Amino acid sequence: PLDTTFALAIENLTVSFDGFKAVDKVSLYVDEGELRVVIGPNGAGKTTLLDLICGKTRPTGGSVRFYNQELSKLPEQRIVRGGVGRKFQTPSIYGALTVFENLEVSFPRGRGVWGSLFFKRDAAVEQKVHEVAREIHLDAHLDEEAGLLSHGQKQWLEIGMLLIADPKLVLLDEPVAGMSVRERELTAHLLRRIAKGRSVIVIEHDMNFVREIADKVTVMHQGKVLAEGSMEKVETDPKVIEVYLGH
Ligand code: ADP
Repeated sequence: PLDTTFALAIENLTVSFDGFKAVDKVSLYVDEGELRVVIGPNGAGKTTLLDLICGKTRPTGGSVRFYNQELSKLPEQRIVRGGVGRKFQTPSIYGALTVFENLEVSFPRGRGVWGSLFFKRDAAVEQKVHEVAREIHLDAHLDEEAGLLSHGQKQWLEIGMLLIADPKLVLLDEPVAGMSVRERELTAHLLRRIAKGRSVIVIEHDMNFVREIADKVTVMHQGKVLAEGSMEKVETDPKVIEVYLGH
């Protein structure tokens, strides 16, 4: 059924690799302003689901509608320009550039990394860089070399490099992996703020962190949605305990 009230409407999304269905008829609806967490055992299809949404992997069936635009047939670059930002597990910051420069080159101007570095700085970009730097707690580090930041700060910088493009949908793969307790707290606040006026989907394994940030949780298992709802609901679901939380 076509439900136009959701920001993101995924229906019967499927991909098979040599006959193996990594994602198998997944339907998922995410509101504007919602932070959805996807959990599930290794191999459940969580990463592949995000790959399908951002166009990194082509589905073999089903649809991904974002504000009623069908994304699943668009090239990855068009999806990014259409407001979808994806952060992967491995950082992809430019270690030799400063924090400011990393954010600056991520500003969508279509001139490529080196082109935008040597381009005259304009006030609008500079203002946006400062705004994002405050949001990711790095405004005091703008002139530092990004390679010298702490692990947590690098993760925030990477989130900032997404925010520079003002995405309406943000997809994050284990954003607090390897972070300290304090960094996790700050990241929880950051993610809650990012979700305002946007939609966010996070893959996460740390159940305490999930409890802290999730509006709603989707549990995946063997390529399918096994359960969905509030954390309280899914963590007491016998099916979820059996395949995932009981271990
Ligand atoms: P999760 O993120 O939940 O751990 P993944 O989405 O990474 O799970 O993987 C789901 C399943 O799909 C795994 O069995 C994985 O081996 C398989 N898979 C993922 N990508 C590919 C691919 N490009 N080719 C073949 N199999 C893949």
